Amino acid sequence: MSRKGTLFVVTGPSGAGKGTVLGKVFESTDHLYFSVSATTRAPREGEVDGVHYHFITREQFESLIENDRLLEYAEYVNNYYGTPLAPVEEHLAQGDDVVLEIEIQGARKVKARRPDAALVFIAPPSFEELENRLRGRGTESEETILRRMETARRECAGMEDFEYIVLNDRVEDAACELKSIITAYRCRRENRDFSLN
Ligand code: 5GP
Repeated sequence: MSRKGTLFVVTGPSGAGKGTVLGKVFESTDHLYFSVSATTRAPREGEVDGVHYHFITREQFESLIENDRLLEYAEYVNNYYGTPLAPVEEHLAQGDDVVLEIEIQGARKVKARRPDAALVFIAPPSFEELENRLRGRGTESEETILRRMETARRECAGMEDFEYIVLNDRVEDAACELKSIITAYRCRRENRDFSLN
């Protein structure tokens, strides 16, 4: 395969359902690689190191920054989150499409560094629903929930800068919309790998 893959950046506030929507898309899409981020946040119950995140210390994270090993990183509610560069480059070179699930500051950095990346904003149906979802997780303290809500309001204000917006009211519909965006990119002439004879 000679074509390079497309880099998809899926962003939106915490609680918008980025992970759930992506989970559905991955069930039915081949040649799609999920970039596992590094973070200094402590694992939640059920989260597995190397699968959900690479859970590392602040010192380890700062060493990744110094050695230019991250495509982007951001500080979010007192923790670092970042995208390891090498696996992204490797999968794109192999012709796989790559998905980053990241917050909005990081999404903007990726777009500045890789203008050919496709940015998708996943929006919650309302702030009320967003708060219900964050509380429903039952994993965060009241203070963290309030900080995440405050951050979410700021993040949603930036929605207008994004190329694609998927409204996550029903997960199945949102997954279908996101998959359609990926499919549309795969149908672009420059991404097609065949010639008629
Ligand atoms: P959580 O703590 O809920 O797993 O993630 C908090 C926020 O950080 C979410 O919006 C999530 O998408 C984002 N995030 C996860 N990985 C990365 C990353 O590598 N870079 C950036 N900039 N944000 C990330």
